[in-house]
Amino acid sequence: MKLKQFIVEVARKVGIDIIGFTDCNILDNIEDYLLERIEDNRITEFEERDIKKRIDPKKVFPDCNSIIVLGISYNVDFNEYPSYKLKGKISKSSWGEDYHRVVKDKMDKLVYEIEKVVDFKYLSFVDTGPLVDRELAMKAGVGWYGKNCSIINDEYGSFIFIGYILTDLEIESDNSIQSKCGNCERCLKACPTGALEGAYKFNPKKCISYLTQTKERIPYELREKMGISIYGCDVCQLACPKNSEAIKSKSKEFIPKVTKGFVDIEEMLEMSNSEFKEKYGSMAGSWRGKNVLKRNCLIALGNMKNKHNIPLLKKVLLDSSPMVREYAAWAILKTDYNIGVKAVAEVIKVEKDIDVKEEMQRLLKYFHKKIFNVS
Ligand code: SF4
Repeated sequence: MKLKQFIVEVARKVGIDIIGFTDCNILDNIEDYLLERIEDNRITEFEERDIKKRIDPKKVFPDCNSIIVLGISYNVDFNEYPSYKLKGKISKSSWGEDYHRVVKDKMDKLVYEIEKVVDFKYLSFVDTGPLVDRELAMKAGVGWYGKNCSIINDEYGSFIFIGYILTDLEIESDNSIQSKCGNCERCLKACPTGALEGAYKFNPKKCISYLTQTKERIPYELREKMGISIYGCDVCQLACPKNSEAIKSKSKEFIPKVTKGFVDIEEMLEMSNSEFKEKYGSMAGSWRGKNVLKRNCLIALGNMKNKHNIPLLKKVLLDSSPMVREYAAWAILKTDYNIGVKAVAEVIKVEKDIDVKEEMQRLLKYFHKKIFNVS
């Protein structure tokens, strides 16, 4: 049996849904796009700024001859809802166990089996590698680019995690696949923040998934569009017809047994660090820490605009985290301007952090202008 066929068969056995192969040539196609994103300040703090490292496999692994690219579906069939009163959404990518560990585990099993038949050198990555994994996936025929810039596989749709193994093995490449979106523009229309600025033109800084992870102060107008998202966002993928026809995931690890796909907002706002670690420590979405998720819970509460949440918001105005106090002020002012003004004016008197104090004053002015329509 040829090595390529052997790898494909073993991949299926270890639970890898999709596999493709590509060469180690520079990813020329994407260089201009990446440069343009830097010039337009559409690059996030999570991305490698050295473009050469993002497009040249040999810079990452000098012995590289070919790349094995894998796709694992996380589109599990799960429709239960938790009973919490205040629910905040977790995107499917953070359901169940941390995908970094799950995908790495399957890749390690594949490597172990390949090593039984051939000696080879390799370097593997899931999400955290410098190369543009979607471009590798497109080149290797794992899927095609949708207008929302996701990689879409004909069988599994776009809810797939991508991993790749740079190897010194010489393996024949697969063919890339052209986009099959046709005239459809559902994802572009569905995006709440307009992060999809056009077909194949994505502005990550407006993407709700990015906003739920950044520690930068989120513009007020974007907070309003985040709805009840606590981590990640699935909107453009859920709008995509290719996902409604897709095969569901076979990976049980991604079933959200603990959270059922939602954060209990009330619990999250009052959790200790050890309680947080115990409940959410193995969730991919916990990587930015408790306070970022607490902040997102406050944005969700602000967007709910329910006066029953005022006592909870008043408590959080005195939280130990400066960032959390700031967003509690935003949420209470958004929920009820009159109650909010009094509560924020009270805490400003005792606020010791100058930045927080200034932000609270800005918020008072902002909401005053908004409520009274002052220009
Ligand atoms: Fe393509 Fe339509 Fe899916 Fe967007 S929603 S990725 S345009 S098929």
